[in-house]
Amino acid sequence: MTTLKYKSWPFKEAQKLLKRFPEPPNIPVRFETGFGPSGMPHIGTFAEVARTTWVRHAFEFLTQWPTQLITFSDDMDGLRKVPLNMPQQEMLAENLGKPLCHIPDPFAERESYSAYMNNKLNEFLDSYKFDYTFQSSYEAYTRGDFNDGLAIILQKVEDVKAIILPTMSAEKRVSWSPFFPICEKCSRINSTRVIDYHPENNTIDYICDREEGLVKSCGHKATASILNGNVKVGWKIDWALRWYSYDIGYEMYGKDLIESAKLSGKIVRLMGKQPPIGLFYELFLDEEGRKISKSVGKGLTIDSWIGYAPLESLLYYIFQNPKQAKRLFWGIVPKSVDDYLAGLNNYEILDLEKQPDSTIWHLFNKGKMVPSYRTSTNFSLINNLISAVGADDIDLIIEYLKRYDSSLEKFATIIEDLVQKAMNYYRDFILPNKKYRTPNKEEKKMLKKLRDELAEYRGNDENELQSIPFNVARMFNESPKNFFQLFYEVIFGQERGPRFGTFVQLVGKDKALSLLDTVCSI
Ligand SMILES: [Zn+2]
Repeated sequence: MTTLKYKSWPFKEAQKLLKRFPEPPNIPVRFETGFGPSGMPHIGTFAEVARTTWVRHAFEFLTQWPTQLITFSDDMDGLRKVPLNMPQQEMLAENLGKPLCHIPDPFAERESYSAYMNNKLNEFLDSYKFDYTFQSSYEAYTRGDFNDGLAIILQKVEDVKAIILPTMSAEKRVSWSPFFPICEKCSRINSTRVIDYHPENNTIDYICDREEGLVKSCGHKATASILNGNVKVGWKIDWALRWYSYDIGYEMYGKDLIESAKLSGKIVRLMGKQPPIGLFYELFLDEEGRKISKSVGKGLTIDSWIGYAPLESLLYYIFQNPKQAKRLFWGIVPKSVDDYLAGLNNYEILDLEKQPDSTIWHLFNKGKMVPSYRTSTNFSLINNLISAVGADDIDLIIEYLKRYDSSLEKFATIIEDLVQKAMNYYRDFILPNKKYRTPNKEEKKMLKKLRDELAEYRGNDENELQSIPFNVARMFNESPKNFFQLFYEVIFGQERGPRFGTFVQLVGKDKALSLLDTVCSI
């Protein structure tokens, strides 16, 4: 294999994966992501599928081999506590401890709790046009996909325990088993404990007497086959079982699962195969730097992001170094959009061979159908314009923009979408935080002078326009920094804003003069 010429992280991951294969395998190279259907898919689910897709694409680009992305749903897991944001709390409490696939759908739309969530996941991934193969754990178990692996785990049950038990507290070790049978009488999975193993005929004996939290038990005692969905294995073993049974080549995971991944790696080796290649990524944090909990439906969802900014700007943000913790809150929207637009602007002039290292190439499926956007007009500029002229009239904003930059006609679709979203963003996040300053007498004099100097200037050169406020500040012995702050606070209701020259060109001299007239006459 030649040395890797691409430096972006998906290519580095793809290269790591390539080292596993001395020659092309006879099945597609498999990538996997995980989903816990106890709750709705969220931004973490989305980011994991997106990031895995980028590695997959880089790998396809390097090898031209067939690949597959399996999105695996743990729908045989037991429901351990009733999620607060779900309807039918009593019904759910009654079903605590049962596998999610055997609990009724609290929304009464699908055949089970997890079927509802799985459907949400699929809708969600489809709406963003991900290419994936969905796999339900329940279906995989009952179909027998895991039977060979389960038999090996039963054969080696003592070795598996020797790997897992040292990581558990003393009291949990006593009754722990890698196997979790579903009680044939009460259908609970979190209430049973294994009392004997029979590897010779793939069965175990169990008793339903475990009391864990609010999960009830029924006292039933029975023998169960470990095959075809009567029994599942605990989750670290489950992870290894999937890797083993589906020959997963690549899977990434959140930083909170580093230890689990190590243990699952040991178990899959014990079973006779290699764990997948993968990297751990840092988790998303909220504005204060706290971990975003999936159970708490925080305001920022992908659906709402799309109302304020293009989806690609979120992807652009997610793409940047997965090993760096990312804060996810509304304040990052303008910079994310501007970074994305700058990337788009730069993409067309990149050498062909450099394009695969651009985030844009990864965002648009190996550089396919990248939209043309060759202008410096960005989200911040549009927001500044809206601040100056108001947020009510989309056509007016677009008219201003076209006057400012006549080339925008060519990118009309992107611009219209941006303006619409910027208006939403302005209304919901900028406007409520504005604090307009009323200038005092001396300050009014300075602003009046600025108005008069601008009125007298006959040209339209950005740098010459920019020099006007500097000259005025000098005349009044004021620092330019303070004078600009005054200008922004009075005109925009914020501490910072666009360059004065840009502002005048953007709104036009007449509008700039009338804005200054208004504040001087307050
Ligand atoms: Zn039971």
